[in-house]
Amino acid sequence: MPTTAQIFISTTRIALLSLSILTGFLHSQTLAQTPCSLHHQYILVLDPGHGGRDPGCIGTRGTLEKDIALAVAKKTGELIQQYAPNIQVIYTRTKDQFVELYRRPQLANKKKADLFVSIHCNSAPDARAHGTETYTMGLHRTEANLRVAMRENEVILKETNYQEHYGNFDPRSPEAYIMFSLYQHAFLEESIEVARRVEEAFQQIGRKSRGVRQAGFLVLYKTAMPSILVELGFLTNPQEEAFLRSKEGQQRMALALYQALCSYFQYRDSLLLARKQSSAQPDTASAHTTTTTAENLPPGYYVQFLATRTQREPSTLALNNLPGKVWIIHTNGWYKYLVGPYQRLRQARTIQRQLHSQGFPDAFVRKY
Ligand SMILES: [Zn+2]
Repeated sequence: MPTTAQIFISTTRIALLSLSILTGFLHSQTLAQTPCSLHHQYILVLDPGHGGRDPGCIGTRGTLEKDIALAVAKKTGELIQQYAPNIQVIYTRTKDQFVELYRRPQLANKKKADLFVSIHCNSAPDARAHGTETYTMGLHRTEANLRVAMRENEVILKETNYQEHYGNFDPRSPEAYIMFSLYQHAFLEESIEVARRVEEAFQQIGRKSRGVRQAGFLVLYKTAMPSILVELGFLTNPQEEAFLRSKEGQQRMALALYQALCSYFQYRDSLLLARKQSSAQPDTASAHTTTTTAENLPPGYYVQFLATRTQREPSTLALNNLPGKVWIIHTNGWYKYLVGPYQRLRQARTIQRQLHSQGFPDAFVRKY
């Protein structure tokens, strides 16, 4: 007797197969939803772009970006819940609802998520433009990337008191984007690791990948974890619009995302495993990083910049420029990451501000 899951898989496979024949994808491969085996627990925030009074971009047949983003996010989440029990999924919205942009990273930071994935659809004046793009936070290198960020950031204009929440940032002014050139995200390398896997998975299902890119997206700006923004395709291209509107197309995109995210968390697992194995030997990283208990910390002011359920490999956090040692305290099921000690509060506050601009928006000072 097949289980519901098996029936679901086989009908999806048949549907995908017929779709790939219909749409003539030459490179399409059947993606198998193999269970995602992981040793550690992770928290993933899925962020379907737009919603409610903000439709996002609109396709040639009137398809709304907010609907496609929500459908693909939910399908991705369902696959993860079914096949990757070690990954807890949290959504920024599960229905057609307006969510202010700043609330999305805020939720991820509050939940201490391990990864933030914002899902969107693209648009272009040229109807021939097609393909997927995955962005990490950074300064745009091309005008095209800047235009995508400007369009996605413009949603804040639909919010009341938007200046208050975004430090008077004007999403329509190209000059405003210069501020992102100063931005050094502590998780940039890891964000690129995720983005690369997402684009590879899209290619595997026969989509045209326009590559991993960088631009100043407000929704990624304040995340305290690796974060990416995915553009699933162009709703202004009639073929891509039809593909993304179809249940099969959405399921296919969700499968690719599931595979990419699973592969990324397996990579995180492998980093932790390597760390455990090397901890028996003299640790070269220990000159900069020490794992200890709160009681054994040398007294002084510290800046706590991160707390995670699953320990992070400190070398992936790009903390080399900090004047101070990194301490990891394991307490009540949490790993807390601190720099210090500093003898003066003023000194600690300076480091706190530095950490805020380095991708740790919730960094705070405490005394031990
Ligand atoms: Zn969007």
